[in-house]
Amino acid sequence: MKSFSRLAILFSLFICFNTTAQVFNPYYNGLVDNVSASNILADLITFEDFGVKEPGTSEIDDAKNWIIGRYQSLGYTTIETQDFTVFGQNTSNIIVTKTGSLYPNTFLIIDGHYDTVNGPGANDNGSGTVLILELARLLKDIDTEYSIKFIHFSGEEEGLIGSEYYVNNTVIPENLDIKLVLNIDEVGGVAGQNNNTIICERDESPPNYNNAASALATQEMANCFGLYSNLQTQISYAYSSDYMPFENNGEVITGLYEANESPYTHGPNDIIDNMDPDYVFEVTKGTLSSALHFAVGREPLGISENHLDVSLVLYPNPTRGTLNVHLNSPIVAPLEMTIFDVLGKAVYKTTLRIENSATDVSFLENGVYIAAFQDGNRAIRKQFILNQ
Ligand SMILES: [Zn+2]
Repeated sequence: MKSFSRLAILFSLFICFNTTAQVFNPYYNGLVDNVSASNILADLITFEDFGVKEPGTSEIDDAKNWIIGRYQSLGYTTIETQDFTVFGQNTSNIIVTKTGSLYPNTFLIIDGHYDTVNGPGANDNGSGTVLILELARLLKDIDTEYSIKFIHFSGEEEGLIGSEYYVNNTVIPENLDIKLVLNIDEVGGVAGQNNNTIICERDESPPNYNNAASALATQEMANCFGLYSNLQTQISYAYSSDYMPFENNGEVITGLYEANESPYTHGPNDIIDNMDPDYVFEVTKGTLSSALHFAVGREPLGISENHLDVSLVLYPNPTRGTLNVHLNSPIVAPLEMTIFDVLGKAVYKTTLRIENSATDVSFLENGVYIAAFQDGNRAIRKQFILNQ
């Protein structure tokens, strides 16, 4: 969708600063280096060549079968289709699940729609479709702590019908435990323009109780783009795409959208020649690193982030001003604790030398914070809420 201009952008936009809350991860960077520009271009050509992919057409069925075939050839085994109708026309969502090693029943959802309207939709949303396929290729054999669902929705252009159907018929009845929804819609850029910026979209609409977590995740995603792509980031608000039915259900959402808005969407000229495949390549890099961050990709062998996870407890959460840290195993090296605010700015730092410690954080303003712990080579970050 996204057919109306982002008029209010000036009111909510601010440039993100790279922060020290997330450190560069060489393992993630090595995986990001495997993002393939030629794969992305080849998939965009295939997607465009299917034609206009409206629900009920053979064109969208061809695209659906191609997407399913791609996951099959990658070796994914949990591939589901969810059938529904759009104004009487049969169509399907495609849902592919990769199981996490530590939290198999908690899901990072990475989604984008594959239906198009009035044109082949190379940008809207071929760009998001091929980006997700490339992520699925590179994440297939990566150990992630959280499960990932790659979802290709249909019926988006007619009013978010596929995602609404999924929320009502899967998320709600199955009480799906969703860590985050990362929606990708229209990240193709505009040919001939300097496509050097990606918009990271956060939840600024009611219900409001999930907005702070969305702001935090969106900032973390922007940080990933700063670390692993050459794109600049802008924070803006989420609207008019498949994350909204999740948002309305109280889930934590974030999204990606091009900063240079294509004038060609929803028409016959939404073709590769009018977009910027190199931009999709950079967006894919940032998105892959974000997926690794949110699903917590773990390096095989060697020391991984979150190694301390099983043995470190932070409580109470929310706290009224005292942060207790409890380690289940003896401290072997001084434990550095750094607290970051929602913008990633370090606001407090201390060293813990005993297994049970109480830190006064009452001098901070109420809000969401990240406590980052470092113990020699081991590291873990925990989110907490201060509400005094
Ligand atoms: Zn779209």
